[in-house]
Amino acid sequence: MLAKDDLFMKLSELGIPSYRGKQIMHAVYKEGVNSYEQITTLPREMLSGLQNICPIFSLRPLLMKKSKDGMTEKCLFATSDDKRIESVLMNFKDGRHSVCVSSQVGCQLGCKFCATGTMKFGRNLSYEEIADQVLYFAQELHLKGERVSNIIYMGMGEPFMNYENVMKSALLINDKSALGIGARSITISTSGICEGIEKLTEEPLQVNLAVSLHAPNQPLREKIMPIARKYDLAKLMRAIETYIKETHRRVSYEYVMLAGINDGEKEARELAALVKDQLCHINLIPYNATGIAGITGSEKKQIRAFRDVLKQAGVEVTIRVTMGQEIDAACGQLANKAEKNTL
Ligand code: SAH
Ligand code: SF4
Repeated sequence: MLAKDDLFMKLSELGIPSYRGKQIMHAVYKEGVNSYEQITTLPREMLSGLQNICPIFSLRPLLMKKSKDGMTEKCLFATSDDKRIESVLMNFKDGRHSVCVSSQVGCQLGCKFCATGTMKFGRNLSYEEIADQVLYFAQELHLKGERVSNIIYMGMGEPFMNYENVMKSALLINDKSALGIGARSITISTSGICEGIEKLTEEPLQVNLAVSLHAPNQPLREKIMPIARKYDLAKLMRAIETYIKETHRRVSYEYVMLAGINDGEKEARELAALVKDQLCHINLIPYNATGIAGITGSEKKQIRAFRDVLKQAGVEVTIRVTMGQEIDAACGQLANKAEKNTL
């Protein structure tokens, strides 16, 4: 659904007063209503106009997959121009619910280990399409009297290649009259687009920043992340340091563990030296198998040894709990299969 200002403008074009807009937002966001017909206070003659001009959902859910333990749910959506995107809901034992959203159809950056990177790039998602992924799960949770607690921009696409729409979606997700999720509970993950980090440093909305590092030196980073040629590691680290200095916020680094590529003791020591004395946290991510030739995840033992080197060097580090492997929950896996018709 549109953000408040855009919704009210559309309504005024239809000759509908703004108090109706408030009614609609309340019904959709606070009462979990997902069709105009169910909003009984609206005059019936308004319904078809509303449905055509400002539909509640800009996306159509196509397929839902739930892991056996019920902890992870993944939804494949169709956009109005029939593109495929996906989002994941993670239900944690402590009652939290995180939604992982996509920001683009596919991704232009082609990281060597990433299923999204192997897809054809489609287009940027609108802010409405991004926020509606959250709305979909929020409404599902509403039925159980529960709420979405965290948002991570770690689905398909590079958020900072679609900066304006991503920030607008975060504002809508944060808006108290909409989803009302605190800025500190929203995390945007980037592969290291420096301009995006610089702009985020200046944003009034205090969302968290995660940076996909994946390698502790320039040659290795370039090899697995082609975008590193444009934004080299030294430049990236400078942008991050400025961000930390200006915002006083902790940065999270993502480091996907790839067997024989970036998971050795040498890399662990280099990584520790790179982030030494920084206000940061490192997430070691066990690789979710994609079938990409030549890329396999590190063994558990190797990941633990890597973590221990970092710990001993005084770096804050955790190994990410893997969820939803059997439902292709890693970035881009489900939409990728849908594109290739191998679901
Ligand atoms: N484009 C952004 C956000 C989406 S990717 C970025 O790269 O940060 C979100 C995270 O998932 C990134 O850290 C990415 O490297 C990681 N990732 C991609 N494919 C993966 C896989 N198969 N297994 C585990 N993590 C993966
Ligand atoms: Fe794009 Fe992120 Fe995948 Fe790299 S890891 S190809 S930046 S979605």
